[in-house]
Amino acid sequence: MAHIILKRSSFFHNLDIIAATCGCKEKIALVLKDNAYGHGLLEMAALASEYGITKAVVRHVAEAERIERYFDYILILADTAPSTNEKFRYAINSLEDIAALHVNCKVELKVDTGMHRHGIAPELLEEAFQRIYNRKLRLTGLFSHHRSADCLSSEWFWQRHNFEALKKAAVSLQQHYGFEPLTFHLNNSAALFREGACPDTMVRVGIAAYGVLELEPTLPAPALEPVLSLYAYKIASRTLNPRDRVGYSGTYTAETSHDVSTYDIGYADGLMRSYAPRFRTPQGHTILGRISMDNTSFNTSAEELLIFNDARKAARASNTIAYEILTALKPHLPRKVV
Ligand SMILES: *Cc1c(COP(=O)(O)O)cnc(C)c1O
Repeated sequence: MAHIILKRSSFFHNLDIIAATCGCKEKIALVLKDNAYGHGLLEMAALASEYGITKAVVRHVAEAERIERYFDYILILADTAPSTNEKFRYAINSLEDIAALHVNCKVELKVDTGMHRHGIAPELLEEAFQRIYNRKLRLTGLFSHHRSADCLSSEWFWQRHNFEALKKAAVSLQQHYGFEPLTFHLNNSAALFREGACPDTMVRVGIAAYGVLELEPTLPAPALEPVLSLYAYKIASRTLNPRDRVGYSGTYTAETSHDVSTYDIGYADGLMRSYAPRFRTPQGHTILGRISMDNTSFNTSAEELLIFNDARKAARASNTIAYEILTALKPHLPRKVV
């Protein structure tokens, strides 16, 4: 059956590099949203905990509940469903979130330092503090997000500058309202490696931990190792005659007589149709014809076929980014840690 292999040693190697860059592993909040970028939520949570990571970031409360036993701190990016779990921190993405969150829960305030997607505008900082206080929420943190940390441009600098100013304003508001000292965090993977240090309480790292961070060529990139490999198994082989055509609509036509085999993976597993025709496996095999729902044909007869071991290369063939390649991989694929 098509399956995913997760390399523990590569994941730990990446976490070593991340910990060395931000100062210590206690500062790492591992981003496990969207099934841990397709790697498998429980598999990666267990590995992270084994390594000594104590903080995680997810999108929904339901994900946080599944991994609760592995961590001391879980930031929930976009959900207001109630929970009394003391480990959970709810992100406030807008003033409206404050009224939606249940009284007494722990919250972290997202501020807009320039991405203009969500987060409180700097001029509304004081109002947000007041509303959080009035609503009897427990504010524990202030954070923001970089929009262009992977590009060589000035944005990375002025977003950091804006965040530092907001940190300062937040400290005096925190003291005024009697909240506990705040956790501050701005950097994602790309921002961490640009900064080369962590001037905040923690970093929120996703793609670098999975080993497929991409930066502009002019920016120094760390020597990370991809954690995930995708394999498929052969269902059938045949020999094509010249002019035989393969798959739906027969978009591939054999010019010479050669072998074709069909494997048990398709777009319903996350092998997007846009892979064809440019994609090549690490061994150089190509897709013949269209990708079907559960099947794809390649010009090889191997029993087991390594589809990819570096999502960045698959991304280039299908004109997207490694994040999309990985999160497309469906939860039903078996995952094995080696
Ligand atoms: C997804 C996400 C991250 C992780 O970004 P990477 O580029 O994968 O390191 C960090 N912060 C927030 C708010 C996110 O949504």
